[in-house]
Amino acid sequence: MITLALSKGRIFEETLPLLKAAGIQVLDDPEKTRKLILTTNQPEVRVVLVRATDVPTYVQYGGADLGITGKDTLIEHGMEWGGAATIGGLYEPLDLQIAKCRISVAVREGFDYAAAVRQGGRLTVATKYVAIAREFFATKGVHVDLIKLYGSMELAPLTGLADAIVDLVSTGNTLKANHLVEVEHIMDISSRLVVNQAALKLKQAPIRRIIDAFSGALAAQ
Ligand code: AMP
Repeated sequence: MITLALSKGRIFEETLPLLKAAGIQVLDDPEKTRKLILTTNQPEVRVVLVRATDVPTYVQYGGADLGITGKDTLIEHGMEWGGAATIGGLYEPLDLQIAKCRISVAVREGFDYAAAVRQGGRLTVATKYVAIAREFFATKGVHVDLIKLYGSMELAPLTGLADAIVDLVSTGNTLKANHLVEVEHIMDISSRLVVNQAALKLKQAPIRRIIDAFSGALAAQ
């Protein structure tokens, strides 16, 4: 059995064409079923639905053989910033170029971020992406107090909880609607395929077949 961990929503939807290229069709609609294990047209392949932030954990510890999640989530899980990487049995062979967005610093309209950075005082930054924010500001030489949040980060500068946020930005509409402006582009984000290294050895042929089909579909785009 090959188990693929996916999260509902954008990643699931954008993974379907890649699965199709591998001859895999998911037989349940995650928006309509309460099932967490979805069958496919291939009896030896199943999909498990987990939170995006849990995908690296499932794959690293063997709850799933493969998984798809954002680079942001992988970095927060401890993976390196650049290039293909491996940590503790988790291998990232492919950038799937899906669920693309960027991770940025944003502040309230009218907040003079450049002056705050120049003055060298401490900046309070609220984010779900603590590892990325810490690394970014450390490299920049800016002292920050990080506040961990789990959602609605846009509220933090509006309520005085923080001077700035580090968050994912796609169209920029959410920032605009909340009178926030993007002041730094930290990095581009896309979803990656991750594989359990032990599974890759034990189930080499079927897993390689899926990786090769995905990379073939990407090359044909
Ligand atoms: P937007 O208004 O299009 O800039 O989208 C921003 C909102 O969507 C923020 O709340 C982000 O956290 C979230 N978001 C944007 N892109 C992604 C993505 N690829 N994965 C998860 N959340 C995202």
